Amino acid sequence: MKTIVIATNNLNKVREFKSLFNNPNIEFKSLREIGYTKDIIEDGLTFEENAIIKAKTISKELGVIAISDDSGLEVEALNNEPGIYSARYAGGHDDDANNRLLLKNLKGIENRNARYVCAVCVYHPNDEYRTVVESCKGVIIDDAKGQNGFGYDPYFYIPEFGQTFAEVSLEKKNTISHRAKALRGIMEICDENFNFK
Ligand code: IMP
Repeated sequence: MKTIVIATNNLNKVREFKSLFNNPNIEFKSLREIGYTKDIIEDGLTFEENAIIKAKTISKELGVIAISDDSGLEVEALNNEPGIYSARYAGGHDDDANNRLLLKNLKGIENRNARYVCAVCVYHPNDEYRTVVESCKGVIIDDAKGQNGFGYDPYFYIPEFGQTFAEVSLEKKNTISHRAKALRGIMEICDENFNFK
């Protein structure tokens, strides 16, 4: 059994990762599960740079294959904010405060086009790595709908579903989400032992 460390403390992301990778020969462990508690400084300027920083840090420090994602929300009318600052848009890691600030900044603005972006990186301790960046389009609505998902999901409305990401099951979210598409992309370029094609 091979162990791949998921370089995140976000339990929602861990759940989404594990729901997509069901290879019986690979065991995915989160940072919490392996007892890694240090903060990784994400000082990249893009989602892709931050994903590489996270996976590389864990891979080099622990000598394991690591997989990471860096993701966030880009809102067209806000010059693609909050972007790489999505998790701490309102200052701390507080989803409710982030959503309140987002709606405040969009008050009176008609253009609600937005997209989630996700960069995934798989990093091998021999310094080989691969990245995939994907996105998923939606519209920001003013009233929260649904209890599932996390972050901006109750306000992220998918016209083709007629529902927000917080109203649909994880399986349905996985059919079109930025993270699911990026993870499927990275699976295509990793063989079943997580060596690279
Ligand atoms: P990261 O952990 O630094 O990659 O920050 C990701 C942040 O982007 C999260 O804390 C959310 O605010 C937002 N985000 C990314 N993906 C999603 C998603 O699938 N649903 C809701 N919010 C998301």
